[in-house]
Amino acid sequence: MATIKAIEARSVHQIQSGQVITDLCSVAKELVENSLDAGATTLEIRFKNNGLDLIEVQDNGGGISPENYENVALKHYTSKLSSYDDLASLHTFGFRGEALSSLCALADFQIVTAQANQAPRANRLEFEVSGKLRKTQIVAGQRGTTASVAGIFKRLPVRRRELEKNIKREYGKVLSLLHAYACISTGTTKENITNIYGAKTLAALIPLDLDLEFKPSMPTQRVSGEEQTNRIHVRGHISRPVFGEGRQTPDRQMFFVNSRPCALPQIAKAFNDVYKSFNVSQSPFIFADLQMDTSAYDVNVSPDKRTIMLHDAGAMIESLKISLAQMFEAADQTVPQSQILGSKASGTKQQAL
Ligand code: ADP
Ligand code: MG
Repeated sequence: MATIKAIEARSVHQIQSGQVITDLCSVAKELVENSLDAGATTLEIRFKNNGLDLIEVQDNGGGISPENYENVALKHYTSKLSSYDDLASLHTFGFRGEALSSLCALADFQIVTAQANQAPRANRLEFEVSGKLRKTQIVAGQRGTTASVAGIFKRLPVRRRELEKNIKREYGKVLSLLHAYACISTGTTKENITNIYGAKTLAALIPLDLDLEFKPSMPTQRVSGEEQTNRIHVRGHISRPVFGEGRQTPDRQMFFVNSRPCALPQIAKAFNDVYKSFNVSQSPFIFADLQMDTSAYDVNVSPDKRTIMLHDAGAMIESLKISLAQMFEAADQTVPQSQILGSKASGTKQQAL
C-alpha cells in the first residue's frame, strides 16, 4: 500500500484558493465587497481584455494601515471577525480572510493603498504566492485602495483555458453582478434602477413590499408555549404581470438577503413560477431583498459565500408564492395603451400616452 502523507502546503493553498475564487465573478465580487466593507462610496472598476489580463478595483475607502501590511493577504487574517460567535452579528460582506490570500495563489496580485493622513503618498504592496508580503514601495496615490489582479488562474491551467473559452459569457455575468451591487448601494433602489437600466425599465415595474409570516416546519424553540412565527419582509421591484412588461430572457434577476447579493435558486424559481402563471411568455425583471433576522440563515456554507442556506426554505417559499399571487392579482393587469397602439401601427413612431 502507498504511504499516506500530507499534501505539500503550496498545493493545498492552490486547491483551497480555487474554491474561494471560482471564476471571474468571484474576483470582482471579493474586491468590490472589500471596498464596500472599507466604507468606500465610489468604486472604479477596470478590465483589460475582459478581465483576462487585469481586473482592478479602485476605492475611496479607509485604506489599510501600515501595521497591517504584513498580514493583509495571509490566509484567515481578517479585520472583520475574530471568533465564530461574531458570525451571527456580522455586518460586513467579508469575514473569512481568504480572498486576498487566494488571489495571491491564483494570479499576480498587488495593492496600492493610502489612509487619509498618508495621501498623496501611498504604498504599493507586492505579495508572494503564499500571501506573504514581498515588497513595499512608496508611490503617489489618493486615500483609498486599489487592488489589481493580473492573469487570473495562471497557475491553474485547466481553469484558465476554460475561462478563456467562455470569456464573453463570464464577462457578462460579472457585469450583471456589478449591477446588483450598484442597485443596492447608496441612493434609493428606484434611482439606482433608473441609472443602470433606464427609466423605461423602471416604468414597467411594480414595487415589491410583502410581509411574510409563516410557521416553521420544525420549530426550534417555543416561547412560553406559543407557537413560533417567522417573519420576513420582501422589498424591491418586479415586472408587472402583463405581456410586454417582462423580458424575453431572465438575465435581470437579482436577489439579496439583508442587502447581501446572493444566489437563491429556490426563491428565484418561486418568483418565476408565480410570474409565469400571469404572463406565460416572458420572464420578470426582479430585484428582491429578503430582510430577515440574521439567525434565519447561514452565509458560511461555501467558501465563496454566494450560497446562503435559509433555515426554513420550504415554509418560506410556500408563503412567498401565496403572497406573490395575491399581489399580482391586485396589480393593474391592463395592457398599456401605448402597446396596443404600437402593435397596430407597427412601423410608425408612437407618441407615449
Ligand atoms: P475578509 O474580507 O474576509 O476580511 P480578505 O482576504 O478579503 O478577507 O481581506 C483581508 C483584509 O484586508 C480585510 O479584513 C481588510 O482589513 C483588508 N482589506 C482588503 N481589501 C481592502 C480595501 N479595499 N480597503 C481596506 N482594507 C482592505
Ligand atoms: Mg474580503
